[in-house]
Amino acid sequence: MIAESDLDSFKSEEYSDIFVNAIKETGAETILIGSNKNGKELASRLAGKLDAGCVIDSTNVYLKDKKLTAERVVYSGNAIAVEQFNSKPNIVTIPSKVFDPMKKDEKRTGEIIKKKFTVEKSPSKILKVQDMETGGVNVEDAEIIVSCGRGFKNKDDIKLVDELASVLKGKTVGCSRPIAADLKWLSEDHWIGLSGHKVKPKLYIAAGISGQIQHIAGMRDSGIVVAINKDPEALIFKSADYGIVGDLYEILPKLTDAVKEKIG
Ligand SMILES: Cc1cc2nc3c(=O)[nH]c(=O)nc-3n(C[C@H](O)[C@H](O)[C@H](O)COP(=O)(O)OP(=O)(O)OC[C@H]3O[C@@H](n4cnc5c(N)ncnc54)[C@H](O)[C@@H]3O)c2cc1C
Repeated sequence: MIAESDLDSFKSEEYSDIFVNAIKETGAETILIGSNKNGKELASRLAGKLDAGCVIDSTNVYLKDKKLTAERVVYSGNAIAVEQFNSKPNIVTIPSKVFDPMKKDEKRTGEIIKKKFTVEKSPSKILKVQDMETGGVNVEDAEIIVSCGRGFKNKDDIKLVDELASVLKGKTVGCSRPIAADLKWLSEDHWIGLSGHKVKPKLYIAAGISGQIQHIAGMRDSGIVVAINKDPEALIFKSADYGIVGDLYEILPKLTDAVKEKIG
């Protein structure tokens, strides 16, 4: 069902009313919502209105014993909670990239119903919408990410990851939390981890990143992980397919030259 309305901006109070009407009308039992800021607010408000169960940021959803079961990462990535719904409807939010898109199957058909809903206008007012300051980076869609952490001594040194990223197809630079949140050397759209962006590139290169669980939580689904760290005991090596123990200031330029030589 596509709900049509005259609402001009997102307010979860109003959107959730539309959902309530659409769910009652269609008898929908499972409601899947994207895990972005609006989606999470909408899901929890909807669960309140419908007195329904809700799992936020689910990483796996399946039927078990005929009941919808959802998994989510808890304790900063140290455990997985498996939660089962005992009532209906079931509300689940799913972060982007958790599932790969299915191949198009022409045999599957369905009916799209368009319906206009009118809901009571919320008394809350949006006074100002301000765009976040960004570096125009989209780490979530990147196929190759070169990331930097506190192992970098100065802001200018980040050019070392920039250079490696630009010789690799993809050209995307990521970072750990301290680089974006504390030092503000890069904008927050580069920030990867539990409280930053969740990424799933084919290749993730982590330079000068210790590999704390909160960082791993954002990049653990990456294809191949390469870690560069001068500490052989660094946690990041436990999550890496290839580990280079050494000084990033020596290794990064050599790696950039080697890639240049190999792929031109
Ligand atoms: C609630 C919460 C949420 C959080 N969310 C996030 C998140 O989303 N993302 C995130 O990244 N963090 C997050 N953190 C912070 C996290 O716990 C770590 O503090 C952070 O990831 C550490 O960043 P780092 O690895 O860059 O720095 P450090 O832990 O300081 O590691 C620097 C590494 O660089 C290495 N190094 C130093 N010099 C060199 C050199 N010359 N060559 C090679 N290696 C070198 C060191 O051996 C060290 O391993 C969160 C924390 C909390 C409490």
